[in-house]
Amino acid sequence: MIGVVGGGVAGLAAAYRLQQRGHEVRVFEASEDLGGLAAVYETAGDPIEKFYHHLSKSEETIVELAEELGLGEEIVWRIGENAYYVDGVVHPMDKPWEILSFPHWSLYDKFRLGMLTLDIDVRGGIPSFDTYDSLADFEDVPVEQFAREHTTQNVYETFFEPLLDAKFGSRKADVSAAWLLGRIKFRGERDILHGEILGYLDGGFGRLLDALVDAVGRENITTGTRAIDVQTEDGAVTGLTTESEGAEDWTITEDHDVDSVVVAAMPNVLEELTGYPCEIDFQGTVCSVISMDEPLLDTYWLNIADEAPFGALIEHTNFVRKERYGGEHLLYVARYIQSPEEDIWQQDDDGVRETWLSGIESLFPEFDRESVNWVKTARNPRTAPVYERGYLDMVVPYDLSEEVADGLYYAGMASEAQYPERSLNGGIVAGYEVADRIDRKE
Ligand SMILES: Cc1cc2nc3c(=O)[nH]c(=O)nc-3n(C[C@H](O)[C@H](O)[C@H](O)COP(=O)(O)OP(=O)(O)OC[C@H]3O[C@@H](n4cnc5c(N)ncnc54)[C@H](O)[C@@H]3O)c2cc1C
Repeated sequence: MIGVVGGGVAGLAAAYRLQQRGHEVRVFEASEDLGGLAAVYETAGDPIEKFYHHLSKSEETIVELAEELGLGEEIVWRIGENAYYVDGVVHPMDKPWEILSFPHWSLYDKFRLGMLTLDIDVRGGIPSFDTYDSLADFEDVPVEQFAREHTTQNVYETFFEPLLDAKFGSRKADVSAAWLLGRIKFRGERDILHGEILGYLDGGFGRLLDALVDAVGRENITTGTRAIDVQTEDGAVTGLTTESEGAEDWTITEDHDVDSVVVAAMPNVLEELTGYPCEIDFQGTVCSVISMDEPLLDTYWLNIADEAPFGALIEHTNFVRKERYGGEHLLYVARYIQSPEEDIWQQDDDGVRETWLSGIESLFPEFDRESVNWVKTARNPRTAPVYERGYLDMVVPYDLSEEVADGLYYAGMASEAQYPERSLNGGIVAGYEVADRIDRKE
């Protein structure tokens, strides 16, 4: 039997692929709910992800999985509108004429940024088409230095810097240029005239998780059960110990005989179970869904180049019709957290609500709090790696037979599939990579 630690998308995908290859699998999930970071809230209509989610056109494995599970037709691709908030004005940034009329950039700024997004290096006046081919060449280059040299000082200050502040906060100086280049390549397709094409599963990504759970078989998944130890003998995995709450505060500890263990959780869990250390730092997120009677924005995604307690505002119902949610307008308000000392991390749900609403009021004086129906807040201390310089040297290998013990595998967020951006697709790829390695070995 193969024990899978974690019932997020990576663990479920690993279990699914292993079963397809004829292996007996059991998934252990610590919390009562499956789905990990892709878990959902109920609404007046379709469920909605606790943390905002969409797909990029470059992500193929998740589309193939959806097709296998009978949901292929239900991935909907549409323009995810983007805008930038600067000095009290929202600037749409989708259509070529919108970008060309952005008043904070000169024509030269636009040319340099445009060339970088087309993968053309125009430094020194002679275009080079292969400078950006190898991300590894930029692994040790600080992102700020790169962005200033490969675009302009002004593009860095008015565009990249606010994005880096929102995404990495106080850690932005550590981030590598390879990450930025990878993100530019990862973005996938744009409709030249209308903007970036993003995907969403009709009815929410919870449907994909439900279909995976059905395919794996609920009887092979145990929730409310935390893995606490992996046993090895003569350099090979032999057992997995789990713990769950029994009646009247009893803790039930169980030992399971296993041939292999797949850890599909954050690397701190791998370290707790096996002692394998991972140097990658993770940031956390506080993310709320605000239900409103009225829309706040005209765009899906609003980046903010201004003082605000949140990094971005994402109005989900400007991407998916509000009718799917009983007619309510749903807005995500989120902030990445670098340290548990940060104010927003310390606040309870009421405090977070107040911080978000007063932040929205100061950016949008016409916003009326009376239009808010409810606010639900999710927090997680580990939601994204800090993609710092030298990151690729720190990723955790899929097969840890040499590093720890034969039969130990890793499919969590610190794996290579989750670079340069962590995603549902990356989780599925990591799960498959591990399943294929186990299958080849046996
Ligand atoms: C704010 C935010 C925005 C995002 N936006 C997008 C997006 O737009 N598009 C996209 O594709 N992806 C997005 N993602 C990323 C995506 O959600 C993740 O990459 C993916 O869900 C990770 O899946 P996972 O299975 O690797 O990890 P997780 O979802 O973290 O699952 C790990 C599971 O392991 C469990 N666990 C932990 N310890 C133990 C233990 N000891 N024993 C048993 N179980 C344990 C946890 O409870 C958890 O359920 C976003 C994530 C966040 C936080």
